Amino acid sequence: MRLWIKDPLAILAARAERGIVVDGAEIVECVARGHSPAERCDATFDASRHVVLPGLVNAHHHFYQTLTRAHPAGEGLELVPWLAAMERVWDRMTPEALRIAIRMALVELMLSGCTTAADHHNLFPPGLENAIDIEVEEARALGMRMTVTRGSMGISQKDGGLQPDSIVQDSDTILEDSERVLRLFHDPRRGAMIRVALAPCSPLAVPIRVMTDSAKLAELHDARLHCHLCQSTDEDVYAVQTFGKRSVDLLEEAGWLSPRTWVAHGIHFNEDEIARLGQAGVGVCHLAAADMAFGVGICPTKELEAAGVTIGLGVDGAASNDSSNMMEAVRHSLMLQRLRYGHASVSPHDALRWATEGSARLLGRDDIGRIAPGMQADLALLTLDEPRFSGAQDRIAALPLCGAHRADRVMVAGRWRVIDGMPEGVDLEALIARHRAAARAFA
Ligand SMILES: [Zn+2]
Repeated sequence: MRLWIKDPLAILAARAERGIVVDGAEIVECVARGHSPAERCDATFDASRHVVLPGLVNAHHHFYQTLTRAHPAGEGLELVPWLAAMERVWDRMTPEALRIAIRMALVELMLSGCTTAADHHNLFPPGLENAIDIEVEEARALGMRMTVTRGSMGISQKDGGLQPDSIVQDSDTILEDSERVLRLFHDPRRGAMIRVALAPCSPLAVPIRVMTDSAKLAELHDARLHCHLCQSTDEDVYAVQTFGKRSVDLLEEAGWLSPRTWVAHGIHFNEDEIARLGQAGVGVCHLAAADMAFGVGICPTKELEAAGVTIGLGVDGAASNDSSNMMEAVRHSLMLQRLRYGHASVSPHDALRWATEGSARLLGRDDIGRIAPGMQADLALLTLDEPRFSGAQDRIAALPLCGAHRADRVMVAGRWRVIDGMPEGVDLEALIARHRAAARAFA
């Protein structure tokens, strides 16, 4: 069916003033000012109240943490002790609780205009071995596009690591399950709804063999690699003390300095490391809300981009951001980066570019993140009807500047998944009630 999304209030696309035509899962035409679609359309959607964006792409999250937002166990603690305190809460996770946490995260993201999400799932206590399978089932049921990352933690406290024994797996188990989920779920084709990436929590959290063999598996299956990197200054102190090397050197030794890799946070690099990351084509996911929440520093986006590093955005875990809102992530990034570089150096369009094209590139995708013929029909449509937008002149810049946070319509692969601000096929009230009840087990 050919659908004309007609006469938008504004659209983030070139020569598409009269809208776009969607056929099946793809955008087939941009309709320029003074023109009509080249072929007859079967249906028309009047977008005259809507600002149309490419669907936002969230390149880093921990869905299970939606059950432990604003949790008192971590309040007032710095990053590492916070993580230690929260891991003792998260190790109670059951398959049923995980399923409802994932559903809530996906719905929350979608309502904020997100159409593709990467979830860094690294929690596999006994009983939760099939966490990735549950995630794929939930994404498919909701029609969300995902890069599901098979995370891992492999060095526990008894071996001198930071994680409790209960959530750590041995290297063989991690690698065998990584291969299993790649074979089962990874779809490298254009238009794929599910892809799998391999994602040890950080190069400091697993034995080197998990890093090197993950890189080999990723090569074999044409998949991507992901980890946390250089989030705090403590990290490199620990890396040098424990491994005799800095984090980026560990990454290089494991064969991860490649265009397959994107890292989360990426704050504390030296000049030489920034140049090496750029030359290798490694991408960085900027996580403004979590970085502000923990006061760990500000991602050097300008220096990284100048070196050739792609910047994308994510919301990070729902226990460190306490929210899974991608439009808010755009605003947070714009404000934080302006704090670092000044008003003239970072524009609302830069932040939107990071959240769309940038994040898409981090996930290795050239079929999403832009509105153009041949791209997937992943769209976020927002109205400017709330008081906060009244009087706004630049309708696209108004979204991050005035604080947009909820989409009116969201389309994924040509299908409406949010209509009138509500998720299709989901009883939102019932979902919140179930999620709240599940969260009581983590109090
Ligand atoms: Zn994270």
